[in-house]
Amino acid sequence: MTKNPPPPAVMFRLIIGRWVSHMIYVAAKLELADRLKDGPRTVEELATAVEVQGPALYRLLRALASVGVFAETKDKRFKLTPLAATLQKGVHGSLHAAALIFGEKYQEDARAQLLHGLKTGETPFLKAHGVPPFEYLEKHPEDMKVFGEAMTSVSSMENPAIAGAYKFSGIRTLVDVGGGNGSLLSTILKANPKLRGVLFDQPSVITRAKQDRHVTAKGIVERCAFESGDFFAAVPKGCDAYIMKRVLHDWDDEQCAKILANCRAAMREKGRVLVAESVILPGNDTDRGKLLDMQMLVMGGRERTKQEFASVFRAAGLKLTRVVSTKCPLSIVEGVRA
Ligand code: SAH
Repeated sequence: MTKNPPPPAVMFRLIIGRWVSHMIYVAAKLELADRLKDGPRTVEELATAVEVQGPALYRLLRALASVGVFAETKDKRFKLTPLAATLQKGVHGSLHAAALIFGEKYQEDARAQLLHGLKTGETPFLKAHGVPPFEYLEKHPEDMKVFGEAMTSVSSMENPAIAGAYKFSGIRTLVDVGGGNGSLLSTILKANPKLRGVLFDQPSVITRAKQDRHVTAKGIVERCAFESGDFFAAVPKGCDAYIMKRVLHDWDDEQCAKILANCRAAMREKGRVLVAESVILPGNDTDRGKLLDMQMLVMGGRERTKQEFASVFRAAGLKLTRVVSTKCPLSIVEGVRA
């Protein structure tokens, strides 16, 4: 490949990006990376193990190897590459669930309505499924499980950066609103031995989180309470700070203002909200947040600029005090009562 390929070659690579993405989905679904963790195997061995057709599997692996995911050895076997290794389940920062979630049919069906969404202003996910994403997930526990795992794996790369970027020392009680399995809260609790935490999420998520290794760890579980409910109704009362990571981007401005207003109503007088999200910068720079914003457009949410955060804060009776950048792509947007 030339160093600076001509625009048509670059464009073609972008156009076929969805083929590659779908190949990665199929490899994740078949758990091929896990099958290779003990060393290279022949296509026949792999095909038998995962119950698929050998010749077609060979073509899939050859195509994936051409983009650096898996590699064919001289003796006609396939092995892991650093990229393929990220698809293993259970490794630190595993992208297995992330590879699954974006390729699942219910996601593809929603994405297929993007053009319709642009034309009409309707939310593509609603058009495809008739219910908003979290209602859909509540009714589809398998998809909810993969969603939770994908959030956890993405979170594992973000949590230390967020815990390290903000001074939690003045805070006695921190609520993680929409905290999922509690991996962020437990990372922050670990770094701040005097802090107490409340994990708040939907009932089904809290039931699962109570069994999770993050919050059940010794030294953490003693300082962590669990509450479940609907953040559009209310959030746990009387705490010093309310953190929300990758929560507001799921919702439109009005819904965000409602969640934030509920935090405002619940927090102590000098309480604060800490919103951990991508903060979109002006200009044309590469930014994963801008691409993720397309997924959010499909789901009914959005990624926001600093001005857009300031505006939803205002609508909730809050004042944006500062944006703290972190060592990961998320920033912490801080707010207090206006
Ligand atoms: N903060 C976690 C999870 C983000 S995903 C992380 O960064 O990994 C968004 C979370 O919001 C999910 O855990 C979901 O269950 C929760 N959520 C969605 N609707 C909710 C509602 N109405 N009330 C409470 N939690 C909700």
